[in-house]
Formats: sequence, structure tokens, C-alpha cells
Amino acid sequence: MFEYAPAPESRDVVDLRSSYGLFINGEFVEGSGTSFKTVNPATEETLAEVATATSDDVDRAVQAARKAFGVWSALPGAERAKYLFRIARLIQERARELAVLESLDNGKPIRESRDVDLPLVAAHFFYYAGWADKLQYAGFGTKPLGVAGQVIPWNFPLLMLAWKIAPALACGNTVVLKPAETTPLTALLFAEICRQADLPPGVVNIVTGAGETGAAVVAHPDVNKVAFTGSTEVGRIIARSVAGTAKKLTLELGGKAANIVFDDAAIDQAVEGIVNGIFFNQGHVCCAGSRLLVQESIQEELLAALKRRLATLRLGDPLDKNTDIGAINSAEQLAKIRQLSDLGEAEGAERWSPACELPGKGFWFPPTLFTGVAQSHSIAREEIFGPVLSVLTFRTPAEAVEKANNTPYGLSAGVWTEKGSRILWMADRLRAGVVWANTFNKFDPASPFGGYKESGYGREGGLAGLEAYLDV
Ligand code: NAD
Repeated sequence: MFEYAPAPESRDVVDLRSSYGLFINGEFVEGSGTSFKTVNPATEETLAEVATATSDDVDRAVQAARKAFGVWSALPGAERAKYLFRIARLIQERARELAVLESLDNGKPIRESRDVDLPLVAAHFFYYAGWADKLQYAGFGTKPLGVAGQVIPWNFPLLMLAWKIAPALACGNTVVLKPAETTPLTALLFAEICRQADLPPGVVNIVTGAGETGAAVVAHPDVNKVAFTGSTEVGRIIARSVAGTAKKLTLELGGKAANIVFDDAAIDQAVEGIVNGIFFNQGHVCCAGSRLLVQESIQEELLAALKRRLATLRLGDPLDKNTDIGAINSAEQLAKIRQLSDLGEAEGAERWSPACELPGKGFWFPPTLFTGVAQSHSIAREEIFGPVLSVLTFRTPAEAVEKANNTPYGLSAGVWTEKGSRILWMADRLRAGVVWANTFNKFDPASPFGGYKESGYGREGGLAGLEAYLDV
């Protein structure tokens, strides 16, 4: 029998140092406080020791960004574009190294970091490089805001960095960015790329650390704009901290998206979309299709096909090119997924996973389906942020809309049907920032992304993404 077994991606392409400092004013500097370990979630081995930025360190970074703002904002847009194009090309040149490091620090399969994250990261820099000299056509002013304080989560470390840094720089702002504490390494490699691109010192500053460091960035009086992606809970804290100041704020928060399958949908295609919707990146996706709404008449057929497909997913070493499902990012996140899944069972839903051997070390959770889920169940309401799908049913399009919208979140939704008119009818009524039709988790830098309701406000990507970094 022919067996396709490519070698695992080599971690030797990454020049991993044992300890990392902060990136301030174009230099790697030591932090003035303690440090923390970042671990490989697939093995629990320590990858490196990383500096925890104190509020003094954050102040140094903000002062560097403030100083650089004068120079950077005065450059003609075409000059800023040159730097952004250079960064985009360097990301492409070093994509393999960045992808391996991302998979090591985050646990995501190399196929995803290599084929999805990295191409999107480069595309984002190319896209906003293209806007830097055309801001007068954007329609809402051309004046940058000043220093942007940016705080990002761990699920797409580089992509979230790109969504934040590329538009800010294109508009002439300078930034202080804090990556998540479980995935700081690719942001520091990005800092090296900024140096390689000869970006003027202070235009990009990276301060590592946990929530306290993030809070210091947000609270700094010399920050003019705060951009946050993360949980709704922390988003609320940040909104309170920014209230009463002149800082502008955008929030990209959690989700509980419905993936809605009608009885006329192409079943095989829908199954692929459901799998991609919830098992891509272990379900650590803010817009994950974590609630499957299936029309009652095809429930049996669809679930049988879905289970057959789930049985083919391969879970294991993130650096193995065959792997579909990697590691859960942290022990803390694993505990949260376990707790909510146990609650699902306790509340009466039926749990199913394919036969699946979990590695002995590291943080792992099998792809999991819950059927018999009611809208009142915790697993239908709370964001699990893991590879767990809750299945609900509906009879009519109106019922599908009612159930899909019955959530405090509103980030995305998916609709599967052969009827174009029904797609438009549904899209009009779904309270979500993105509605995908016969596909899921499709991203393009030209397309604005963001939430309704408790999924946040403001948009990233596209023209709307510039608005968040410009004054009229
Ligand atoms: P989190 O809110 O715990 O942390 C996000 C970031 O905020 C981290 O860098 C963290 O260190 C920092 N932080 C924590 N407390 C802070 C405080 N008091 N002040 C300032 N910063 C603070 O979220 P997470 O667990 O890293 O990420 C998962 C969440 O992110 C999920 O809810 C997910 O839906 C959301 N998310 C949303 C989007 C989007 O575009 N809407 C994208 C990705 C992730």
C-alpha cells in the first residue's frame, strides 16, 4: 500500500535563543523586572525565558514611540509604503522560520501556520503598504492619531500582530505592541525583521509580559489609541480603563458563531465547512463556527457524514505536515475546555469523539461533538475556544435566524444552501460582522472584520481598518 509520509518540518530552521528581552527604540534591551517561560504546548518543554515588561519599561517604549512619531508621520506616504513593502517581502523570505516558530510556541499545525497564517500576514502588509500613499482617497481624513498601544491574544500571534501594526504604520502612527504571554516569540522575530528592514527606531516597539504589562500599555497617558483583541471579559476592563480619556478604542472580542446548514446544501461541501469552521486551529478562533444549526430533516444524514469525516482527522505533532489538529495552547485553556465540555454532559447533551490517541505529554483535546444541545445549555452560550462543536436543529429559516442571533456575541455566521435568495435573506437578518455563504473562515486583507454586540466595535482590514488609525 502507498503511504504518504513526509518528514516533519525541522525545528532547526529556527534559531531559538534561551532568553529574550524587549524591543524598544530599535534595540533588543533587557527588561527591568522578572521574566517568564514560554513553553511548547505539544511537549511542555520550555522554549525560552522572556522578559516581563514593567510599567517603567512600557514608559520607555511609549516615549520611544512618541519620539519616532514625529519622524514617521512626517514621511511622505510613499516612503512609509517602501518600508511596509520591505517588511512584507522579508516576511515572505523568512516565512518558513516564522511558521515553525509559530507552531512551536502556539501548538498549531505547521500546515496551517505555513499555508494560512504566514501568507495572510504577508498579504496584510502588502495590502496596507498599498494604502500608505493613497490615504487622501480613503474618505475620512489623513492625520495619524499618534502612539497606538496594541494588545493581542495567542491564537494567531503573527496574524493579529499584522492586523494591528500594518494599518497603524501605513497611516503614520507608531506602536507599542504587547503579544500574549503564551506566544511572545514570533513578535520578537518580527522585531528582528523590522531591524532588517531598517525601520526607523521607535516606530515599532514590542513589550512582552502578561495582563499587567497590557494594562500598563492601555493606561499610559501618552498613548493616543488603544487596539485590543482578546476576551470580552478583558475587553470590558480595557473599555473602563480608557473611559474618560481622549484615547480612541477598538475592541475585537469573543464569538459564538452559528454555522447554519439547510436541507438543500451540498452535504459534502458543508461537512468540510463545518470541520474547517470549528477544528481549524483547534477551535482557538474568535469567529469559529462553534454552534452547528442543522435543518431537522437532514440532521441524521449530516451527522453521519460529519462523524465519518472526523474519524479521518489526524491529531498530533504540530510540526508533522500530516497533522490536522495540533495542541491546545496552554494548560489553562485545556482546563477551560474540559470544564465546559464536562458541563455539557452534566447538563444533558450527548458527547461524541472519534477514536483518537492523545500524546502522553503536552496539552491535547480530541475533536468533540455534542448533540441534543438546547439553547439554554452552557455549551450553546459560552465561548469554549476549543475543538468542541455544539449541534442544534431548526425547522424554518426564521427559526434558524432566531437561534443564530440568540447570543450576546455577533462576530460571524455561516449559511449553507443552494438558494442565492435565501443567502441574502439570511445575511440581512443575522446580527454578525461577517456572514460566509457556502464557505467558512475565509479572510482577505481587503475585507473588514469585526463584531456586533459583545464581540466588540471597530473594524480591522480593508478601508474600514484605516479609519481606526486616522483623524478627520
Ligand atoms: P485574553 O483577553 O485573556 O488576553 C488577550 C491579551 O490581553 C493578552 O495579551 C493578555 O495578556 C492581555 N491582557 C489580559 N488582561 C489584561 C488587562 N487587564 N489589561 C490589558 N491587557 C490584558 O484573551 P486570550 O485568552 O489571549 O484570547 C482569547 C480570546 O480572544 C477569545 O475570547 C477570542 O474570541 C478572542 N479573540 C478575538 C478576535 C477578534 O478578532 N474578535 C481574534 C482573536 C481572538
